[in-house]
Amino acid sequence: MTTAPDTMRRPRVVVIGAGISGLAAAWQITRRRHDIDVHILDGAPQIGGLLRVSELEGLALDEGAESMLATRPEAVRLAREVGLSSAIVHPTAARPAVVIDGELKPFPVGLMMGIPTDLRAMAASGVLSPEALARIPLDYVLPRTPIGDDVSFGDYVAQRLGPDVVDRLVAPLIMGVYADDPHDVSMMSAMPALLDAARSDASLLSAARRVKKVPTGPVFAGLDGGIGRLPIALAEALLSAGARVRTDALVRGIRRTSSGWQVEFVDSGRWESLSADAVVVALPAPAAARVLRAYVPLAADQLSRIETVSVAVVTLLYRDCDLPGGDLPEGSGYLVPPSEGRPVKAATFSSHKWAWVDERARPGGLVAVRTSLGHARDVEVLQRTDQELVDLAATDLGFVARLGRAAPVASRVTRWGGALPRYAVGYRGRVETIDAAVRAAPGLAICGSAYEGVGIASCVARATVAADRICEHLTSNGQWTP
Ligand SMILES: Cc1cc2nc3c(=O)[nH]c(=O)nc-3n(C[C@H](O)[C@H](O)[C@H](O)COP(=O)(O)OP(=O)(O)OC[C@H]3O[C@@H](n4cnc5c(N)ncnc54)[C@H](O)[C@@H]3O)c2cc1C
Repeated sequence: MTTAPDTMRRPRVVVIGAGISGLAAAWQITRRRHDIDVHILDGAPQIGGLLRVSELEGLALDEGAESMLATRPEAVRLAREVGLSSAIVHPTAARPAVVIDGELKPFPVGLMMGIPTDLRAMAASGVLSPEALARIPLDYVLPRTPIGDDVSFGDYVAQRLGPDVVDRLVAPLIMGVYADDPHDVSMMSAMPALLDAARSDASLLSAARRVKKVPTGPVFAGLDGGIGRLPIALAEALLSAGARVRTDALVRGIRRTSSGWQVEFVDSGRWESLSADAVVVALPAPAAARVLRAYVPLAADQLSRIETVSVAVVTLLYRDCDLPGGDLPEGSGYLVPPSEGRPVKAATFSSHKWAWVDERARPGGLVAVRTSLGHARDVEVLQRTDQELVDLAATDLGFVARLGRAAPVASRVTRWGGALPRYAVGYRGRVETIDAAVRAAPGLAICGSAYEGVGIASCVARATVAADRICEHLTSNGQWTP
């Protein structure tokens, strides 16, 4: 094992993980404290984690996340801070569809995570059967459903509004965020404000109407050229600010020393270590558990109990002249209820959803589609080879979108193993235990997608809290003040 020479006495913070969480934490520390020497280590050959853009047939397309929530400020503000203001874009007005009995129907408007707040629009959409529609208003007269500290979101909605609302409206949206079944997802994580409202309102419809906010602007934002530009711009801004970013540095553990921490990592089979006055662990839960095992066992134990979900994104490019009518069906794509039993759980017609994709693809006669496969209750689908996944996605899309004999001219499979934490009922208690254990360890902070939400904006918010802790407690001579 070699030890990197410690030539300076500026306080040093090592951030482990260069996904959006780690980069955002490093950025906030760098902005607030010019005296801190920030090092970022990531085990992968590139930075960015689940935010990655790469070219397919010369066309830049996101491989992982593709949009950020614009109704809360954190992610969009970060993009601005690192010089991406002029690249911020919003999806077109194209709307998604939902697959019902193998047919595409417009996804109803006025939903709150699938809960209908406009029953007329719901009825007009034709997405629910007359019986399922008639079942919904029973919510007004049914006795209160017990909630306790937390409850399964799917179970709660099914009890109030009937199982079809969960299958056809809630599940497709929950799948899109968590790749999980709504029956296995905590209501506290999916809809915390609604959970609060439901404590005082026996009717879920009334609670939803009370909580629903009418957005004053676009709900989502993207970046011209792909959301994958965000970590690249962040890393560049960090380097300019004097931080150091190192890839291929797989952290195996952290060790407490008399003056702080020693971060031990492996690069190309060689063990190295870096001393630090403080450490930010910005890793997926299983990796965080391994890194914290020896010195913060209570947090590690809880982190190791957080299950994860694997998914694959299969990107397909079609020639417009091969498609019926020269294009995909109208709309931004479609969502698939579990009862449809289809392998593709969602398809995004990227060329319809993002003007920048269409502007770059159309001159070359190309149309881009992104399909998602795999979720917590469908892991088998990912056992296939890449070619099998492409064939499966193209066949399924071809049937649902009625693409006739059109076949993709290019494809790409991106597998995201263990990418998303499962927000099981009662997860908040687990996060509180982890946070208490980490707070008791001097010079340690933790952030990532397993604590306050999986969305980019939530990750940035959580990263900011981690950075605040470091900036508040680390003195300019590297002491940790309680
Ligand atoms: C397919 C997909 C689509 C998504 N779409 C959206 C979307 O459109 N909008 C949205 O808001 N959210 C989306 N999400 C969720 C969001 O992308 C993630 O929750 C978020 O990017 C997580 O960021 P992170 O930095 O916490 O973790 P990660 O991105 O997982 O980064 C963790 C980093 O840690 C590194 N690492 C792991 N182990 C070690 C180790 N031992 N030592 C050093 N480094 C290590 C990894 O290489 C990685 O770079 C999507 C997720 C997926 C999977």
